Amino acid sequence: MKASLLLIEDNFHNRYLATFLLERQGYEILQAETGPQGLEMAAKLLPDLILLDIQLPGMDGYAVARALKSAPQLKSIPIVAVTSYAMAGDREKCSAVGIEGYLEKPLNPETFVADVEQFLGPPAKANNDAACADR
Ligand code: MN
Repeated sequence: MKASLLLIEDNFHNRYLATFLLERQGYEILQAETGPQGLEMAAKLLPDLILLDIQLPGMDGYAVARALKSAPQLKSIPIVAVTSYAMAGDREKCSAVGIEGYLEKPLNPETFVADVEQFLGPPAKANNDAACADR
């Protein structure tokens, strides 16, 4: 069975595109529109990976990541930030809250699935943190 991915994203068009691209490759996509909803779904459904928008209304992606990484049963789930937040330092902020991966919007339909799959390896390869790595 292919992996299930939780997508936490408030923008309809981004949700639609990411879901379309991943479902086409056989992945199961769970969708949440807010941070609190995403946390609830993560705890209930234990996805294999979480795609996390940083710019969410109310509870932002950094706060969501901190909550996920402080929950014993959830902290091993890889998180990939998907953000257009192009300010200097946001990769460092991702890393600081434990986010493993970092992809920039707009999503590139040609490479998006492969980019996500880099972070989906077996648990032994879960430290495959190319983008949001050290420093
Ligand atoms: Mn957003």
